[in-house]
Amino acid sequence: MAEFDLVVLGGGSGGYACALRSAQLGLSVVLIEADKLGGTCLHRGCIPTKALLHAGEIADNSREAGKFGVNAQFLSMDIPAVNAYKDGVVGRLYKGLQGLVKSRNITFVQGHGRLVSPNTVEVNGEKYTGKNVVLATGSYARSLPGLEIDGKRIITSDHALTLDYAPASVIVLGGGVIGCEFASVWKSFGAEVRIIEALPHLVALEDESSSKQLERAFRKRGISFELGIKFQSAKVSDDKVTVTLEDGKEFSADLLLVAVGRGPVSANIGYEEQGITMERGYVIVDNKCRTNVPGIWAVGDLIPTLQLAHVGFGEGILVAEEIAGLNPQPINYAGVPRVTYSDPEVASVGLTTAQAKEKGHDVVELTYDLAGNGKAQILGTAGSVKLVAEKGGQILGVHMVGARVGELLAEGQLIFNWEANANDVASLIHAHPTLSEAMGEAHMALAGKPLHAHG
Ligand SMILES: Cc1cc2nc3c(=O)[nH]c(=O)nc-3n(C[C@H](O)[C@H](O)[C@H](O)COP(=O)(O)OP(=O)(O)OC[C@H]3O[C@@H](n4cnc5c(N)ncnc54)[C@H](O)[C@@H]3O)c2cc1C
Repeated sequence: MAEFDLVVLGGGSGGYACALRSAQLGLSVVLIEADKLGGTCLHRGCIPTKALLHAGEIADNSREAGKFGVNAQFLSMDIPAVNAYKDGVVGRLYKGLQGLVKSRNITFVQGHGRLVSPNTVEVNGEKYTGKNVVLATGSYARSLPGLEIDGKRIITSDHALTLDYAPASVIVLGGGVIGCEFASVWKSFGAEVRIIEALPHLVALEDESSSKQLERAFRKRGISFELGIKFQSAKVSDDKVTVTLEDGKEFSADLLLVAVGRGPVSANIGYEEQGITMERGYVIVDNKCRTNVPGIWAVGDLIPTLQLAHVGFGEGILVAEEIAGLNPQPINYAGVPRVTYSDPEVASVGLTTAQAKEKGHDVVELTYDLAGNGKAQILGTAGSVKLVAEKGGQILGVHMVGARVGELLAEGQLIFNWEANANDVASLIHAHPTLSEAMGEAHMALAGKPLHAHG
């Protein structure tokens, strides 16, 4: 039996970040992974979707080239070539990550693990014991009761990322982040796209103003959606899938993408048997990611925090540092940046207006329209930077819509997490002409000294 300071089960964002940081801190680590090091984010999530979105952006740029005086023509998508580009990006990062794990002297074990005692994981008949066990088995794409994924006409994001053709028409069930990103990709690839969402808005966790702007932009791009209505059934025939909604409306398309959320991978791997507290399959932890069983920790999509790769990284690092005795600060989840990488992008950090009011803040809001920003005019993007603030005080939330606003979020994150107020930011000079000026202008306007804004 091999013994380590840490046994990490699952080599996705949460698990590998924990392993890398632990090894850096001088701890001995075994990292156990059933499939590929890098997990969902690298192989079936963040990276391949963003590669497809980038290919879509280039397709749209070629369609619109004439607007910029460039003679170019969009002919068609070559999906095998798009996939080769996407797989090349993933492959290079995968190789880099494998090298990194090796260079930190982490023992990597390939195989399906099972927790057989509070400090032992069994893989391929071998037992690995640790002073600590970190559960990082991640999540899977969920479906709805009675909706069977056949992988051909009714698919999840896993299948969508390996399609070798561009569908002519798609129905996307679920208007959250993943649904909106695929809707955006397929529209750019030339498909007819319709989103069905039971909640009243697309990206419903965002500030309502951001959702409304995304809806407006999608409508303009020709992406259709049905909001506030539930799915009832789906029927597959030879050449299409037909979806019926609860109000009786029917829609048909080549494909139905089911993007109704992700559930934790926690069944039949020994978690219940070891007495770990779970709710709806999620492992329950305290603010340092400790489970109720001493020595067992859990991170990433397996626990009921934001299902984001960088949250997994943060939780993995937190656990490593706690085990090494560094006593790190718990994560403030409101301060985690969130981005939907559709066209246009939606980016936010901190509280929405509704959340700030609910928490009893005396809220003021300011929206700076990107129409007044030089770089936004050059790019031809619409959108805004909205600030939610305590009256006369701290910035409580930053909410943005527009091309490339995900890249502006790093500043929004500093503003929120360093508890800045409008004057602190208004006095910082932003480079001209950049989209980041919109961040500066919004704070100048909130501080009562607008430059390129009325009022
Ligand atoms: C389509 C899509 C797009 C996304 N885009 C983004 C994005 O742009 N930005 C972002 O921040 N997040 C994004 N996410 C979310 C992000 O991928 C996840 O939050 C992140 O991967 C979670 O990391 P994790 O380590 O908890 O789990 P995972 O990455 O799922 O890793 C868990 C690993 O555990 C392994 N495993 C499971 N059970 C066992 C077992 N018994 N034994 C051994 N190994 C096991 C699995 O094989 C897997 O590799 C996206 C997700 C999807 C699906």
